[in-house]
Amino acid sequence: MRLGIVSPCYNEHEVLYLSAQKLTTLFDELIAKGKIDSDSFVLFVNDGSRDNTWEIICDLHKNNRYFSGINLAHNVGHQNAIMAGMMTARTLCDAVITIDADLQDDINAIEEMIDRYNEGYDIVYGVKVSRKADPFLKRTSAQLFYRFQNSMGLKTIPNHADFRLMSSRALEELSHYDERNLYLRGIVPLLGYRTTTVNDVISGREAGASKYTISKMLNLAVDGITSFSIRPIRLIFSAGLFFLLISIFITIYILYSYFVHSVVPGWTSMMLSLWFIGSIILLAIGVGGEYIGKIYVEVKMRPRYNIEQFIHHENDKAGSVDNNK
Ligand code: UDP
Ligand code: MG
Repeated sequence: MRLGIVSPCYNEHEVLYLSAQKLTTLFDELIAKGKIDSDSFVLFVNDGSRDNTWEIICDLHKNNRYFSGINLAHNVGHQNAIMAGMMTARTLCDAVITIDADLQDDINAIEEMIDRYNEGYDIVYGVKVSRKADPFLKRTSAQLFYRFQNSMGLKTIPNHADFRLMSSRALEELSHYDERNLYLRGIVPLLGYRTTTVNDVISGREAGASKYTISKMLNLAVDGITSFSIRPIRLIFSAGLFFLLISIFITIYILYSYFVHSVVPGWTSMMLSLWFIGSIILLAIGVGGEYIGKIYVEVKMRPRYNIEQFIHHENDKAGSVDNNK
């Protein structure tokens, strides 16, 4: 089978040569074992890096026939960068494996993913068996987030990030999902097909710092929930009903106090409820606004990414790029 590995890179100059070296060794091994064809490739997607990541990718491409590259015209974020890579690679190979450029995921799991593919699975998820290598804050925030996500009714594979194999027909199916607010971990389980998992022992980053800033992580978390679940809106509606009920009791209490004894005190309770209800209202507007914002982004149907250049060995005559289909 012909394998395409898609790897998003954002300011990864520190780690890229190291990762390329490991992938070369892996490819040599897999080709020798006859597990993958010799025209398999690694497609690095440069997500608008501000360092010399693209120059490194061009250099790798020039000196090693395994490496291809896509240069995106600007930074579109991890999810869209993966999408650009997968959509470009899907017609050039039988299956695509996505893995972060820092290779924190276990590249030894790749062989097993291919075996599963040969057994007839269309989607193989890499599932983290331990997050010990992750920093404490990242680990706990991720765990809290996944728990919250489940309680919001989103069905995702536990402890799976974007390290997965997808067959070209699964990718073809994925290409019909036109949403702009991409959250692949939520969409891929909707595709159907036979799926399975393999263990992924993650390690620490060998070079460079995490490119996922707190705000990028928060954006992904909000997209993940609001793109797949309307439960937050329902919760607000139920909260509204609940407070209506409480206010009936409060009205009775106020009328009773008014007629039975004079009311001057009560400033404290007044202020408390004012702030409480005020914050609930703001929250409600915020959640509603979040969904309206989503609709706004979706209806514009803007391209998800813009491929400026695509370098691929078969394609050296200059390939046609599929910009966001
Ligand atoms: N990345 C990207 N665009 C971005 C941010 C990150 O393509 O805007 C890539 C990054 O180069 C890496 C992957 O996404 O290959 C995951 O990022 P990172 O390893 O920094 O995140 P972490 O592992 O800390 O969650
Ligand atoms: Mg990482």
